[in-house]
Amino acid sequence: MNSLLLTGGRVVDPANARDEVADLLILNGKIAAVGPESAKRAPADIKKLNVSGLVVCPGLIDLHVHLREPGQTSKETIASGTDAAARGGFTSVVCMPNTAPAIDSSATVALVHERAEQSAAVNVFVAGAITKGIAGEELAQIGSLKKAGVVAITDDGHCVQSNEMMRRALEYARMFDLPVMDHCQDYALVTDGVMHEGYWSTVLGLRGWPSVGEEMIVARNILLAETTGCHVHCQHLSAAGSVRLLREAKKRGVPISGEACPHHFTLTDAAVAGSDKFWADDGKAVSGYDRMSSALPSWPSYHTHFKMNPPLRSAQDRAAILEGLEDGTIEILSSDHAPHLNYEKEVEFDFAPFGITGLETELALSLMQLYHAKHLSLTEIIAKFTVNPARLLKLAKGTLAEGADGDVTVFDPDREWVFEARDSASKSLNSPFFGWTLKGRAVATIVSGKTAWVEQSLAGGV
Ligand SMILES: [Zn+2]
Repeated sequence: MNSLLLTGGRVVDPANARDEVADLLILNGKIAAVGPESAKRAPADIKKLNVSGLVVCPGLIDLHVHLREPGQTSKETIASGTDAAARGGFTSVVCMPNTAPAIDSSATVALVHERAEQSAAVNVFVAGAITKGIAGEELAQIGSLKKAGVVAITDDGHCVQSNEMMRRALEYARMFDLPVMDHCQDYALVTDGVMHEGYWSTVLGLRGWPSVGEEMIVARNILLAETTGCHVHCQHLSAAGSVRLLREAKKRGVPISGEACPHHFTLTDAAVAGSDKFWADDGKAVSGYDRMSSALPSWPSYHTHFKMNPPLRSAQDRAAILEGLEDGTIEILSSDHAPHLNYEKEVEFDFAPFGITGLETELALSLMQLYHAKHLSLTEIIAKFTVNPARLLKLAKGTLAEGADGDVTVFDPDREWVFEARDSASKSLNSPFFGWTLKGRAVATIVSGKTAWVEQSLAGGV
């Protein structure tokens, strides 16, 4: 049941510096062998999957996912969100604590663990809140959250505004050996901005969310990480200045890291002005533009599927994020999968909630914008989805070493496909990428030796 022999795939395992065509054996839910030993040690009646021509790598990890449970289960549940993760090639997700109630106590952590045990298709790790109710006023009980098993703390969706409180949070987190993840947003600078402050916000008459609103908190976090020695991880970076700050701080050895989401290195703020404006200029830099050009996806101006927090920024910011990914300043890729219902999004741009779904498109968009566009090798991209997040959160994941959990992702980096709403497993449909021709797709997602998801074409082999 939990044993599987994958034959003939290209095994790419950055944690063990491996990139070669090899068989991989999973026995009783654990990696048992990679290479010629695999076939020799496999029992005669083992299930086999021919994955020749495909990439086989450690199960992908997304450390920034909103599963909306408890409390907002009409948007998403642990079951539906992890189904979407499995389809996207992810074997582990970290769920954010901005649920209802917030995950700010050991009881809520226990509830999420229990629900995941019952209904999750992939591994669910929990991030606890920094402050009670994510209200930014009083620290959560960080020690008891750690005891309950959280892998990090964050007020994601919100940002602790008091520098003093953030400092205390880092001091406690350091005592408990927990990384602190931060959604970087200075409320005084951002006020009620809804899109990137720049040319397009002026043209469209929408209130601006300036880059400095993110950069200010990234700078604060660098200083506090340096002062306290606690690791701070800056979530979903969008602005060029943030990348510059991070690059400089990392050079000095400050315990700081950052992540980027595909929408920030694919789209720009021009997309808010509609598809014509986007494809006329910024869109031409999207990998696959030529392929799509006969049928470019189209959408109207002010479309709320292009509203997220932090917002889509300028072409220069997009280039800076790509550069940060390329030179290693940004070590981790994530989706910030944020499901919202149609009726919530089908309102004026100003009033729509921030956020888009992303679990099912992030691997393809990352392969397109980073691998096919020749910024990163497959090994480098896979590292940003596996060993790097595992190292940050101290998870025993992200490796195909013998004895490790049998979490494996199989994907085809060259597969072209069109992302259609009817194929999505998420309960929400707020993706800007429906109708896009994407390149690169997961074909099997294996969690502890069991197939959490497998594409029809391979299904016969299991
Ligand atoms: Zn956030």
